[in-house]
Amino acid sequence: MQTIKAAVCHEFGAPLVIEEVQLAPPGMGEVEVTLDAVAICHSDISYAEGAWGGHLPAVYGHEAAGVITALGSGITGFKTGDPVVVTLIRSCGTCPSCAGGRPVICETPHDTVNGPLKTADGKPLDQAMACGAFAEKVVVDQRQIVKIPEDMGKDVAALVSCGVITGVGAVVNAAQLRAGQDVVVIGAGGVGLNAIQGARIAGARRIVAVDMSPEKLEIAMEFGATHGVLATEEKPWKAAYKALGGRGADAVLITVGAIPAYDQAPRYLARGGKAVLIGMPHSGAKAAYEPVVLAAVGQGLIGSKMGDAVIQRDIPWMVDLYQQGRLKLDELISGRWSLEQINEAIADTKTGSAKRNVIVFG
Ligand SMILES: [Zn+2]
Ligand SMILES: [Zn+2]
Repeated sequence: MQTIKAAVCHEFGAPLVIEEVQLAPPGMGEVEVTLDAVAICHSDISYAEGAWGGHLPAVYGHEAAGVITALGSGITGFKTGDPVVVTLIRSCGTCPSCAGGRPVICETPHDTVNGPLKTADGKPLDQAMACGAFAEKVVVDQRQIVKIPEDMGKDVAALVSCGVITGVGAVVNAAQLRAGQDVVVIGAGGVGLNAIQGARIAGARRIVAVDMSPEKLEIAMEFGATHGVLATEEKPWKAAYKALGGRGADAVLITVGAIPAYDQAPRYLARGGKAVLIGMPHSGAKAAYEPVVLAAVGQGLIGSKMGDAVIQRDIPWMVDLYQQGRLKLDELISGRWSLEQINEAIADTKTGSAKRNVIVFG
């Protein structure tokens, strides 16, 4: 065991506490990654607020990048010193979902409470989302990491591991958008902007961003939206229909947690269109829709976790697009903070104005 600094949640809704914790050395198939950057995702905040339950104390944080500093046994294709991104997608590789090409919904249970983290006095400490990346180091499975170029900034690389694959992947992998189709993206936050640029990259004809904030709609245009609609309008889908030439969208991507967005999403759809549910409302929240409408005009609702990413396939091409100037990452970062400032960074994220706040380790 070694001692590292981490931001620990002891009580839902209370500030995280920066303290020393113990980290076990990597076991079979695992690597230790010393982190350079970890972004704050809304999922971290929802967990810390108790929206989805879970064991306490816990270390959240799952959008990370760093350098491999130790290898367990049975590691293939990685060596110490390799720069990598760390994702929460811990997959067994052999269950029906993994074998079917969908590792994000791996069916093999993984015990995070009795994982590599312990409190300073040796009590169980949950390695939340199989990452626990609000910490100086993580020990994760080799299937959770992907090598990145030496010259890529770790702050921008960290974003790829969750927000970017979630947004871009939802368009490419879940909606399977074809060039020339029309898209509506509800919510122009971190994931929404990535869904918008994913739609641009996929060759969408028209991309309508829907958000409560005029400022966010302006940012959405910079990421590739062709039209913006204020969600505060009465019946905002009417404005979207107008922007789409009266037909509705082939894909509607819901990237927010607010239930009205889910209730309204089918209204934006063209016949045969699909609504892709990406945002993560609190457990127990329910949305309503009219089954007869969906049946009569062949529409669909699909849930999409982590952009249905196969990280070893998807992250390298997203990194290439970034390096070619075709995927915006630098523009997604609104602030850089130290681990000690994590509660301020979280508070700033909760104001809704921030794109991504990133904790950088010096
Ligand atoms: Zn996330
Ligand atoms: Zn599996």
